[in-house]
Amino acid sequence: ETKRITKDGQILDVWLTVTPLKDDMGKPVAVATTERDITERKRTEEKMRRTNEELNDFISVVSHELKTPIIAINGFADLLFQQYGARLDDKGREYLNQVRASASRMEALVTDLLTLGQIGHVPLRLKQISSDDLIRSVVSNLQAWTQERNIKVILADGFPSVYCDPGRLREVFENLLVNAIKYMGGASSPRIEIGWEDREECIQFYVRDNGIGISPQHQMSIFERFHRLADPHDIEGTGLGLAIVKRIIDIHGGKIWVESEKGKGSVFFFTLPKRNP
Ligand code: ADP
Repeated sequence: ETKRITKDGQILDVWLTVTPLKDDMGKPVAVATTERDITERKRTEEKMRRTNEELNDFISVVSHELKTPIIAINGFADLLFQQYGARLDDKGREYLNQVRASASRMEALVTDLLTLGQIGHVPLRLKQISSDDLIRSVVSNLQAWTQERNIKVILADGFPSVYCDPGRLREVFENLLVNAIKYMGGASSPRIEIGWEDREECIQFYVRDNGIGISPQHQMSIFERFHRLADPHDIEGTGLGLAIVKRIIDIHGGKIWVESEKGKGSVFFFTLPKRNP
C-alpha cells in the first residue's frame, strides 16, 4: 500500500502490485505494475475504526454507571434472603433466588465489560518477568476445581522469562484455563496441558485440553464479544472471556488462535513478542 498525488494535488491511497515478467530462460526482463485506487476503502476503514472506538467508550461509560446499582441490588437481595428468607414461602424464596442469580450474572457481565473497556486505555505496565511463577500460581489457585473434576494438569518443566504486563498475562492464563475446565465435557481422562516454544521473534504458549472442542465455523468468532456457542447452554459465562484475552494479546503485539476438533479438544495458542534489545 502506498500513496500517490494526482495532478490536481489530491492524495490517493493506492494498492500497488509489481510482477516480474520473465523471458523463456526465466530471466526477468521487465515488470508489470498495476495500481488500484483504494482511497474510498481506506476512508471507510477509518470511519469504522472511529465508530468502534466511540462504541467502546460508550460501553465503558454505561458499564461504569451500571456497576453501583447492580451491586446494590445484589447486596439487598442477599440481605433480604438472609434476614427475611424464613418468612417467605417456597415460591417467594424461589423468586428471590432468581433475582439473586440474575443480579450476579449482571454483575459478572458489567465487571467483564469494564475490564474489556480498560484494556488499551490503561497503559500496560510492561516488565520482564518469570512466566513460570505466574503460571504455577494460576494453576494452584484453580486446583480445588481441577481436583474436584479429576482433571490432570500437565505443565512444562519450566516456563520462560517474558516481557509483559504481569496482571494482564495472569488474566489470559486464568481465562484460558477456566475455559478448558468449563468446556471439558465428559472426557474419560480429562487433561489440560500448558506448554511453550521459543520462536525466533516471540515466545509461543499453548493451553491444550481434551474437552468438547469447537467446530471450524466458530473458531474465529469465539474471540468476538458475546459469541457463545449454543451447546452446551447450561455452562455459565458472559461470552467476554476470550474477547478480553484477545485484546490483551493484541495490545502486547502478539497473536492468538485456536486449533480444535469437535469432540476431541482444543489448543489455544498465543504469542508474546520478545523485548527489543
Ligand atoms: P464464556 O466462556 O463466558 O461463554 P468466552 O469468551 O470465554 O466466553 O468463550 C466463548 C465461547 O467459546 C464459549 O461460550 C464456548 O462456547 C467456546 N469455548 C471457549 N473455550 C473453549 C474450550 N476450551 N473448549 C470448547 N469451547 C470453548
